[in-house]
Amino acid sequence: MVKEIRVKSVLNKHRKRDEWFLDDYSVNPYELCMFNCVYCYIRGSKYGFNMQDELSVKINACQLLEKGLQRRARKGEYGFISISSSTEPWQPIEEKYKLTRKMLQIILHYKFPIHVGTKSTLVERDMQLLKEIDENAILPKDLSDKLNHGVFVTFSFSSLEGRIAKIFEPAAPKPSERLETLWKFRENGFFAGIAYIPVLPFISDTNEQLEMMIKTAKEFNASYVFVGALTLQGTCKRLYYRVLQNHFPELLPKYEEIFKRSFQPSKSYQQKLEKKAFKLCKKYGVQYQILSKI
Ligand code: SF4
Repeated sequence: MVKEIRVKSVLNKHRKRDEWFLDDYSVNPYELCMFNCVYCYIRGSKYGFNMQDELSVKINACQLLEKGLQRRARKGEYGFISISSSTEPWQPIEEKYKLTRKMLQIILHYKFPIHVGTKSTLVERDMQLLKEIDENAILPKDLSDKLNHGVFVTFSFSSLEGRIAKIFEPAAPKPSERLETLWKFRENGFFAGIAYIPVLPFISDTNEQLEMMIKTAKEFNASYVFVGALTLQGTCKRLYYRVLQNHFPELLPKYEEIFKRSFQPSKSYQQKLEKKAFKLCKKYGVQYQILSKI
């Protein structure tokens, strides 16, 4: 049963712009997510495996967003808004509530640029609206000479293999469907790419897997790629280890080793992963990150 809640604020201003996502703001129309990815950090320490049971809809989100954007626009404080940072904006419940769609209409009115992050094929429903935002958005001054798009559409993957994705992202659309949607966005002139986040240690971080991921990005004409390591925060570690135990028991000791000190692998693991991805992007002629590093 979905809960309808009223919240006090919905437009979050970030203290510092994210280097990879380039967002200054974020909005989240829903609380939690029906896709239930095993590694998803939004569970924190509060929620168990099935987030669907606790899913909430922020029914006053549009009024709050309207107020917030009106104020920011008046002061000229334009910046990319992340849609969304801690929920899936086009999860199945969106078909009923259309809250993300309504928020996009408000964003279009106030001419803010956005960074869409999704695993959903439902995003295609709003392509026309996203096109209008792309064409009308006012970019933040310090990025206006570096970018010529008011919308980035990023599809995220932890693996391109349907069998693996089914285990770790049980209710999300298949990777092949996400790739097809990416293709459609590119065909329609969008700046759209791929976030391979999180790359799963010993599962999708092998040289062969990484090569396949970058090669696939090229084949689907992704505008950019970026890659990030797995983190296991809050209850995620316990849930993730339970899933490993069921599907890849031989990997458990290896995970215990790399996550023994922290919720994330060592800095050197992360740097190595990025270096490999960067080299492969060069090899296949794919842009690494939104603000090109190639
Ligand atoms: S789709 Fe995103 S927000 Fe939803 S469970 Fe997966 S990682 Fe979390």
